[in-house]
Amino acid sequence: EASGLPGFDAHEQVWLGRDSERGLEAIVAVHTTVLGPALGGTRIWPHVSFEAGVTDALRLSRGMSFKSAIAGLALGGGKAVIMADPKTEKTPAMLAAYAEMLNALVGQYITAEDVGMTLADADFLAERTPNVSGTTKGGSGNPSPFTALGTFLGLKAALRHRTGSDNLKGIRVAVQGLGSVGWALCQRLHAEGAMLTVSDLDQARTERAAQELGATVVEGQAIIAADVDIFAPCALGGVLSAVTIPLLRAKIVAGAANNQLATAADGERLRERGILYAPDYVINAGGVINVAAEIGSGRYSVDDVMVRVDRIPLILTRIFERAEDEGRTTDAVAETIAREIIHTARR
Ligand code: NAD
Repeated sequence: EASGLPGFDAHEQVWLGRDSERGLEAIVAVHTTVLGPALGGTRIWPHVSFEAGVTDALRLSRGMSFKSAIAGLALGGGKAVIMADPKTEKTPAMLAAYAEMLNALVGQYITAEDVGMTLADADFLAERTPNVSGTTKGGSGNPSPFTALGTFLGLKAALRHRTGSDNLKGIRVAVQGLGSVGWALCQRLHAEGAMLTVSDLDQARTERAAQELGATVVEGQAIIAADVDIFAPCALGGVLSAVTIPLLRAKIVAGAANNQLATAADGERLRERGILYAPDYVINAGGVINVAAEIGSGRYSVDDVMVRVDRIPLILTRIFERAEDEGRTTDAVAETIAREIIHTARR
């Protein structure tokens, strides 16, 4: 069924787990296992329809394959969606049913946190299945600080590519979403003198940003049209579309959210407008780099993680240069590189 839905890309497996008594409806999409087990978080989110949930899992798992390949990790790409409101419908019974599903997939999919799934949830799952990463007990813990650091370094690489300098003093940055990643990114930007404009659905977060970081707060979609140099999407995906791209005033888009482009055509729309786009799965790889360090034979080492996160700006710069040389979008170039890596490994 999944093969007929948008986002399908010759995925190896798509699994459906349903337990109506315990309130579980979960989709696990395994895009590739060529480089290693398919790693990717579980998103707990009340999608408007089952098809929307499957499409989300398909697109996110494909992004995970490309993300791990480009970051040089021995991991494939997978992602899961549990169709539920994390605030009201996430129960221990539901998570226990999900752990049983993960066990049934015999290690070809390893999960981690994502929107709606917390570190505590990962720990809960880890008591019931080995197929979970990013736990606090013996695991690598919260990936968000590493995602924020990689995004910060990547944003600076984009600025340097665009202007010749990565000095953030006085550079205006709009950050959409002040969650685990967005907040940590804002702190780093503020510390280096950037001027922040922020938005979040949660007013307590925007108020804190105004007080502690001197941020200007805007409501809803106004963040997209903010008069800034850089737009950093750090909320949910699909933010760059035929509707929003014409509104952008930023000359750079560099943020952590997954699936920022609503469609592949939106990469071309950004290019036509002369906006430099840091492909999401390249700039936001810090989290998976951290999680990957606990998987496999090696012992988790934060130094190894930092070496890989420090490479993100270099990888991005090569993508920016190749995109210019070839007259293509940065997104298309990133995908080509990722597919080449997976293809070579498969052969
Ligand atoms: P989070 O749930 O902690 O934070 C998301 C924030 O965005 C929340 O504060 C929420 O209120 C806000 N938000 C949601 N919709 C919004 C909207 N329309 N406008 C403004 N704010 C809105 O999530 P996170 O862990 O910070 O992740 C943020 C993004 O980065 C997600 O797209 C996630 O998939 C991606 N990402 C996260 C990691 C990680 O390590 N956490 C790694 C890679 C990618």
